[in-house]
Amino acid sequence: LPEGHTIRRLANLQNKFLAGRVVTASSPQGRFTGGAAAIDGHVLRTTEAVGKHLFQHYRGGPTVHIHLGLFGKLTSGTGEPPEPTGAVRLRLVAGHAWMDLRGATTCELIDPPEIAVLLARLGPDPLRGDADPLRAWKRISRSKTAIGALLMDQKVVAGVGNVYRAELLFRHRVDPFLPGARLREETWMSMWADLVTLMRAGVRTGRIETVLAEDRPRARGALKRDEAGYVYRRQGLPCRVCGTEIRTEVMVARNLFWCPHCQAPGNAG
Ligand SMILES: [Zn+2]
Repeated sequence: LPEGHTIRRLANLQNKFLAGRVVTASSPQGRFTGGAAAIDGHVLRTTEAVGKHLFQHYRGGPTVHIHLGLFGKLTSGTGEPPEPTGAVRLRLVAGHAWMDLRGATTCELIDPPEIAVLLARLGPDPLRGDADPLRAWKRISRSKTAIGALLMDQKVVAGVGNVYRAELLFRHRVDPFLPGARLREETWMSMWADLVTLMRAGVRTGRIETVLAEDRPRARGALKRDEAGYVYRRQGLPCRVCGTEIRTEVMVARNLFWCPHCQAPGNAG
């Protein structure tokens, strides 16, 4: 499931290759024929990312709302677009670039009032400069729900997924089962600042790398895939900080990973 940094990268890619140009839109699969017809021949003004949502705004035309969900995929390229294979819901061709959308949970036309309703239901997105961490704090500080579950709730923070959840909690030594109401405000504010830094780095590199220099197995060289994180998918392996076995358990339908020593019960950061 793509996290916010991936969605932002997709938006950046569309802005680089498709925006400012007249698009030819089609729905080879046929499930978005009407929508494709509505944007066909319009100029893509910009693609905006909010959390895990994408909004393609067309000049003088409608907006297309895309949410990839678990199985959605956006592929793109330059040059002649390939023969559409599989279920291509939406194909855009503009200038020398093309984009195919397959299997998304949502691909729909959306109007400004509907966008406003949708955005009002989303928490602040750490990748947006205007995001207010106190909006998230309001929900967290009033909740008995575990912080590990709250972080996955898009109403609390938009764009955070399973990897950032696990790594962020570890970096701040927070017990994932701690009720939101027991987290300290200063801990949350430093978690937020960290999330902004980590997610911005994710946009730059396309990877989630959370291990601090002092905790790296080797001081130099690029991190290997299995060296990038503290706890994510490291169940059964020794904690990089204390050596305790990393544990895993399902929380909000996704595997949570944590160190039971560094993030001991009740540890509020
Ligand atoms: Zn540990």
